[in-house]
Amino acid sequence: MHGSVTRIGLRSRLSNTLDDKLCCVKHDLLLGFLLLAMTGCGTTPEEPKPPERGVTRDLAQDRAGRVSGLTYDMSWEVPSDMGELVRGEETIAFSLSEPRKGLVLDFQQPRENVLEVKANGRPAECSYSPDHIQIPADALRDGTNRISIRFIAGGSPLNRHEDYFYTLFVPNRASAAFPCFDQPDLKARYRLALDVPGDWTAVANGRALSEERVGDRLRFRFQETKPLSTYLFAFAGGEFQVEESQWNGRQIRLFHRETDPKRAARNLPAIFELHRKALDWLEDYTGIEYPFDKFDFVAVPAFQFSGMEHAGAILYRDTGLFLDESATQNEILQRASLIAHETAHMWFGDLVTMRWFNDVWTKEVFANFMAAKIVNPSFPEVDHQLRFFVAHYPAAYDIDRTRGTNPIRQELENMNEAGSLYGPIIYQKAPIMMRQLELLIGEEAMRTGLREYLKTFAFANATWPALVGILDKLTEADLKMWSRNWVEEPGRPRITAELQMDGTQIGSLRLRQEDPLKRQLTWPQRMTPVIGGKGKPASFDVTVNDKTVVVNEAQGLPRPTFVLPDGRGVGYGLFELDERSRVFLLENFHTLPEAVSRAAAWMTLYDALLEAKIEPNGFMRSGLRALKTEPEELNVTFLLNTLATVYWGFLSEGERRTLAPDFEKVTWNLLLSARSPSLKAACFKGFMRIALTPGGIQRLRLVWEGRLNLQGLNLSEQDFMKLAWELAVRGGDDTQDVLAQQSRRIKNPDRSREFAFVAQAFPGDPDRFFESLKKKENRKHEPWVLQALTYLHHPLRAEKGIRYIRPSLDMLEEIQATGDIFFAKGWLDATLSGHNSKEAAQAVRDFLGSHPSYPRRLRAKIEQSADTLFRKVGAQTSR
Ligand SMILES: [Zn+2]
Repeated sequence: MHGSVTRIGLRSRLSNTLDDKLCCVKHDLLLGFLLLAMTGCGTTPEEPKPPERGVTRDLAQDRAGRVSGLTYDMSWEVPSDMGELVRGEETIAFSLSEPRKGLVLDFQQPRENVLEVKANGRPAECSYSPDHIQIPADALRDGTNRISIRFIAGGSPLNRHEDYFYTLFVPNRASAAFPCFDQPDLKARYRLALDVPGDWTAVANGRALSEERVGDRLRFRFQETKPLSTYLFAFAGGEFQVEESQWNGRQIRLFHRETDPKRAARNLPAIFELHRKALDWLEDYTGIEYPFDKFDFVAVPAFQFSGMEHAGAILYRDTGLFLDESATQNEILQRASLIAHETAHMWFGDLVTMRWFNDVWTKEVFANFMAAKIVNPSFPEVDHQLRFFVAHYPAAYDIDRTRGTNPIRQELENMNEAGSLYGPIIYQKAPIMMRQLELLIGEEAMRTGLREYLKTFAFANATWPALVGILDKLTEADLKMWSRNWVEEPGRPRITAELQMDGTQIGSLRLRQEDPLKRQLTWPQRMTPVIGGKGKPASFDVTVNDKTVVVNEAQGLPRPTFVLPDGRGVGYGLFELDERSRVFLLENFHTLPEAVSRAAAWMTLYDALLEAKIEPNGFMRSGLRALKTEPEELNVTFLLNTLATVYWGFLSEGERRTLAPDFEKVTWNLLLSARSPSLKAACFKGFMRIALTPGGIQRLRLVWEGRLNLQGLNLSEQDFMKLAWELAVRGGDDTQDVLAQQSRRIKNPDRSREFAFVAQAFPGDPDRFFESLKKKENRKHEPWVLQALTYLHHPLRAEKGIRYIRPSLDMLEEIQATGDIFFAKGWLDATLSGHNSKEAAQAVRDFLGSHPSYPRRLRAKIEQSADTLFRKVGAQTSR
């Protein structure tokens, strides 16, 4: 899976109502009497206690030990009328031991949704508790069992729209749709029949075996799948166009709804080629042929994540595959990485799956790690060290520097909290850790170890310690200690360089790492200090195994003008600059010859700004100077992003207005002089974000009206939508007119709906719009909601936006419980990132203060998202 933001999860016992608890108490009493009555009888089966909500680790372990050889034979009927319910039937066949213990199935729907249960051919008297159906012991037998259930499916994991639907079951939503064993280590083979409206098509994990027309309906039968975890089982149907291509003599297909034939034609060859390359590469690296029977993928409008790796039927957000003509280099790279990431999951995640969701990060880190290896050869013109740095470090630090940070490997007691594990620590920090691990043990050992891991656990499940065990045999290093500090603990080291001069020469240069959280941890790692002198800066490869290490090669060199503890984007930590280096780099970092050094220096300066060691105006001036000469597009984007954050968040309004003409001028000139269309687009997007002067806004207006054509800048329908919103948020007299005109211009019906949705965030009545978000059904298109929220809390409207902060936090538990994985963190980011006032920070503090026993993980997510806000407020008061 792949996504840009995280979801916070906690649908736990806490959401049990008091009634549930009372029920449990009554039941326990009753059970006590029953057990008393049974004493001495000896042959009566045990009466199972009603299980806790969700899937606890204990329940999962018990079932994994007793259930095997699992198959689901199921048929689903999806009506064309959205008002009608989806019905399904299934037969679950498996081998069972200890039948006297009874058996718990997961189904997060009310009892009425279960129409009939038969166990081994006979009606079964089941008991029901929230999230579960309990099959009584007397209906079960030792060995093979068949449970047949007719049910009404839960709606939300089916994502139904008028003319299409798709399932999304990760992490624990399969049981919100149908009765099953919803845990990753009960892999099953699925046989699926799907009945859909006659003008639809359909796709699932297995190959379609037949397609039968019955009246105005179409019935698909799909081939039995290989063993899959519930979260990887998927199917979709609707009005999709199907494109076909070939890979090594096999057919691969894309299902999509793109209505612009030019946009489709422009993108299709690259989309297929990127998949083919990824598949070839993975077969070669792993030594294992593509493990599933067929390979299809679906481009879904407003899909919740960037992509989801259902075996043989990957789902993507359509905009991640179909790029605009104006796509930036970064977007082109992101697409390649996304495709490589999801394809890599076919081996890492789908073939070998984590035993329990606490190790969900392993599949994500391997997908990202492999994606980097796969994508690099396809972009020889790209500086990949730089690319890795900008794609991972800023986002990882954004979490790891906060109070709310978490370790890579987290505890997980219940599957209903699995959604809370995702985030940049998994997606960004873990790949940094993995690259360090590869530097430590070597590429060859890593590959050998991974091959053994995949072979050993194919079509089964594994844990991180099992992999560490395999790799540990291939290296001298103490991987267990290494893994404990990097993987099981949160945070990053504070790293300083200590320079001692011997006359005009360096006597010694030491790197020292400390644990800011006072646990005395060290993070053994490779680092690349860079020191500047006359001429080209010198860089060193240093392995920091201990608290301090001496950089031997630096001894005897002339006094440096600066010391950057990591100047080539390899080491991980909060790198502290001494005063002299800080002053020098703030003035001169843009003159460093290597692009990755400029990025690493800029990152270090940004950290210093957040630590209140650099003043925001000086930081802005330094960045603007750099923008004028920066040739690397990845760095331009990195600079523009950080500058925009500081510009809107850390400057006072007066400072911002003073700086705006310069910022606009530099960005506009860069746009005019940009040689590549993608750099031009990056600059235009940057300009759109920061335009504040009447002249700047007028430029946006002229571009939107089509009266100012910039050569080489190709704007898509989506760019024009965004432009209309950006004009609207700047609040001209004719905002409604701009929005109405833009709405008429849009040709694609999905985009048209998106535009209308987001436009509600603007005046007239944003209060009513916010109120409407309190209803779950109005939050169905999560990316639209987040976009609209961002405008509700835009810095230019922050004063009014403050009143939505508290109610947004009040809604958070429900947002987490009902939304998809990344939604709650996205909700928090969209709510808080536009603000920089004391009042906004206070609203968050008040909320945290008034909820001392708030769910831990959710609280951590708030602390992550509010971190920059707190620092912004701190920066204002310190000046
Ligand atoms: Zn993934």
